[in-house]
Amino acid sequence: MQRAKIVILGGGFGGLFTALQLDQLPWRCPSEIVLIDKSDRFLFTPLLYELVTNEMAVWEIAPPFAELLADTAVQFHQGLVTGIDLQERTVQVQTAVAMAVLDYDVLVVALGNTVSPSPSDLTLSFRSLKDAQHLVHQLSQLEQSPKEKIRVCVVGGGPSGVELACKISDRLKERGRVRIIERGNLLLKNSPPANRRAGEQALRERGVWLDYNTKLVAVEEGQILLDYGNSLESLPVDLVLWTVGNSPHRLVQDLIQRFQLSHTANGSLAIAPTLQLPAYPHVFALGDIANLTDNSLPATAQVAYQQASYCARNIWAYLTQNELQPFVYVPLGEFLSLGVGQSSMSTPFLPFGMRGSLPNLLRRLVYLGRMPTFKHQCQVALHWLSQMR
Ligand SMILES: Cc1cc2nc3c(=O)[nH]c(=O)nc-3n(C[C@H](O)[C@H](O)[C@H](O)COP(=O)(O)OP(=O)(O)OC[C@H]3O[C@@H](n4cnc5c(N)ncnc54)[C@H](O)[C@@H]3O)c2cc1C
Repeated sequence: MQRAKIVILGGGFGGLFTALQLDQLPWRCPSEIVLIDKSDRFLFTPLLYELVTNEMAVWEIAPPFAELLADTAVQFHQGLVTGIDLQERTVQVQTAVAMAVLDYDVLVVALGNTVSPSPSDLTLSFRSLKDAQHLVHQLSQLEQSPKEKIRVCVVGGGPSGVELACKISDRLKERGRVRIIERGNLLLKNSPPANRRAGEQALRERGVWLDYNTKLVAVEEGQILLDYGNSLESLPVDLVLWTVGNSPHRLVQDLIQRFQLSHTANGSLAIAPTLQLPAYPHVFALGDIANLTDNSLPATAQVAYQQASYCARNIWAYLTQNELQPFVYVPLGEFLSLGVGQSSMSTPFLPFGMRGSLPNLLRRLVYLGRMPTFKHQCQVALHWLSQMR
């Protein structure tokens, strides 16, 4: 086997963990592993809510790639991927100083999804570290203002909307007036029933208003217009958070069109069970941007994390002419963060769900074990232990 160049696009749950696993494999001839991300940091999204309530610090949930990859052979390049050419086997990357073109032997596409478009520029999204820092800044400003009540409207009753509403409510306490707007008649519709009940109860206890069968029509400075189905109503508001749905990445849409790739009904790249693109076996795709043709994989960190080991092992198998393994997803359950120090948990391995501080501790321990690199896990664990004294 000749030295191969493996280029990984996106350093999230799919890309970073593929790179770390590739680095551990028994290469007879070591491959060149290049990881590209527009950010200088990995982001552990399931713990992003903890920034809103100061329960965790940025360094814990968003460690820099340079630190995580320091003891590995993985080369990290910070840059924005602007083009992928599957025929030429090149990718275009805009770095801080220049536009570079990189060639590859094996490509891994793990660029994640983007937020679906909001009806107004005045809404805040909650997806990136920058989004979370912006929200914290806005909340601090409102807290320092003479306003008696702070009105926050969260659009979307999925896990992000419910978790955010609980954290914001706990942060603002009696000054907060938090409202969730959901266009359907159910919150947490894809969650296990025990978590759904726990989420509804946590919102009730915090006095969060729930508007079901309601659509956000427009946002203006200081007010929103809601469509309740049979009437329109305008309400005063200080912050509007948009947590609704995912859209396919623009680059992936381009790829599908330009190279006539198969895709699923919701616009994800259709992949073979081995995580390869059927027409381009040297290209692997995983995480939120890819799915099996029946769309059976949820867009979660859990899926991307589990796929990463298969992806790394299958790249090794592809390059060493060994047999590739089909990805098998093992659903392990779901944690929801429901306010400060409170979570719910539902797993197929227990006949009941749990809610309170014990599942919150379990959630932290499980996520600690999922953090990249043993060194980072130790740093975070020591920090948590020091806070308990
Ligand atoms: C607030 C929040 C909470 C969540 N909580 C949970 C949870 O509790 N459990 C769970 O299982 N899932 C959760 N998810 C979903 C989970 O984050 C995603 O499913 C998971 O991150 C998908 O992994 P990925 O590798 O496909 O994409 P990502 O982890 O999003 O990684 C994509 C990477 O690509 C980079 N990138 C994108 N475009 C470019 C470009 N053009 N050039 C260079 N780099 C680029 C990004 O910077 C990013 O680092 C949550 C998501 C959010 C937003």
